[in-house]
Amino acid sequence: MHPAQPTASHFINGEYIEDSSGAPIDLIYPATGESLGRVHAATPEIVEQALASAKAAQRAWAATSGTERGRVLRRAADLIRERNRELSVLETYDTGKPLSETLYVDATSGADALEYFGGLAGSLTGEHIQLGDDWVYTRREALGLCVGIGAWNYPTQIACWKGAPALACGNSMVFKPSETTPICALKVAEILCEAGLPPGLYNVIQGRGDVGASLVSDARVDKVSLTGSVPTGRKVYAAAAEGIKHVTMELGGKSPLIIFDDADLENAVGGAVLANFYSSGQVCSNGTRVFVQSGIKARFLERLAERMATARIGDPQDEAVNFGPMVSQRQLDIVLGYIEQGKAEGARLVYGGTRLDQPGFYLEPTLFADVHDDMTIAREEIFGPVMSVLDFDDEDDVIERANRTEFGLSAGVFTQEVTRAHRVIASLEAGSCFINSYNDAPVEAPFGGAKLSGVGRENSKNAINHYSQMKSVYVRMGDVEAPF
Ligand code: NDP
Repeated sequence: MHPAQPTASHFINGEYIEDSSGAPIDLIYPATGESLGRVHAATPEIVEQALASAKAAQRAWAATSGTERGRVLRRAADLIRERNRELSVLETYDTGKPLSETLYVDATSGADALEYFGGLAGSLTGEHIQLGDDWVYTRREALGLCVGIGAWNYPTQIACWKGAPALACGNSMVFKPSETTPICALKVAEILCEAGLPPGLYNVIQGRGDVGASLVSDARVDKVSLTGSVPTGRKVYAAAAEGIKHVTMELGGKSPLIIFDDADLENAVGGAVLANFYSSGQVCSNGTRVFVQSGIKARFLERLAERMATARIGDPQDEAVNFGPMVSQRQLDIVLGYIEQGKAEGARLVYGGTRLDQPGFYLEPTLFADVHDDMTIAREEIFGPVMSVLDFDDEDDVIERANRTEFGLSAGVFTQEVTRAHRVIASLEAGSCFINSYNDAPVEAPFGGAKLSGVGRENSKNAINHYSQMKSVYVRMGDVEAPF
């Protein structure tokens, strides 16, 4: 049995559960295209077990003190950090992302979320509002049973970013990973349990969209948090609306990165690399529309191509490698299709664009210049290592073009001029922004999108508002005056 093969397909009520009558889901290793093993999609019976145990466990958990809940989460964070290498290797098998990334950003950012929300749990309070002799007090209460549905690019991080604030606030969660990356969330559930989380509070079940849909439509579910594409977001949001459920939607983007003539060249090139090629470009917040002012364009493109040529592409388990394969044949085909479209519509291919002639889903990092706003590669989310460079001269013009999109997840600006940096960022329609940097996502900062990129925020104190609700209680100290 391959080490990446999970003990069983699902983790429910504190234990691994198998039900091989569910449709098989192969664990395809993106670096070779080979199957490392398989899990099975949840049958309706498994979905029922997961929801019933999460529902049954939630009230008692909400009744424990925040400090006790937080202690469990912080213990889980410690266990994750102790096992970082083992979990990073699994993340690499699950996604194909190089170990040189996963060792630093996946399990570790999951641990950050557990530690941060574990720390906050004991400080969650309501308030007291004095009204003469009478008064109102508010109670911050859990929502109840939450469903988390994940995308395939950050399976450990997404499982923790949803689970940690949910559990800190006293909710339970049923989490469904993407069928493309079923492995890592099971480990998160196992570790939470080992850290002392009572059974039923964090269940993981496998499956495709139909399993996700059956979770969202269940009347026992109070909140749905999805990380996924806009089309899936529309369906899940609509299904949740049917039951007036709370939602957090972390959806796609086509974010602008604006580089002014006065930017520090090396930092701007580094920012553009981080904004497009980390995780082989499979990052929702990527700044894939890189607007470069005409005075710096030639030097920028030259230096960018030089630095792209130093990318080390290869076996993602080799720590010297810093650029891995795409997650799946399907995603590779989608991205190759966009590259062909870019060429056909007249964009200039400066670097890359070719699939590597070897097993696995490898594609070179790819750079297009002379891209126009109306080209398909400048309008649609590609979700792969394809950077589009667009020209601009004027600040007002670039702001208007940067905002001319239905998406609004992220935006970045590189300039040395401090007032311009803040002025431009203030005008951009995006939730997560960067000045002279790109794609930093510390747990202390709110993360999420504007426009079609989503609703709600993950991380930061703000996430608490999305996993709890306020009850207000009016207390009359005198007699009741009634009309009759
Ligand atoms: P999808 O939208 O295809 O899927 C997301 C998840 O939803 C998967 O687990 C999927 O299951 C599930 N799902 C699909 N249909 C339904 C349904 N009708 N009801 C309930 N659940 C459903 O996204 P990808 O997995 O392809 O991920 C890539 C997308 O995610 C990109 O658009 C990207 O921008 C976005 N993303 C956003 C992030 C953010 O924070 N804003 C972060 C990372 C990614 P299955 O795939 O198993 O069928």
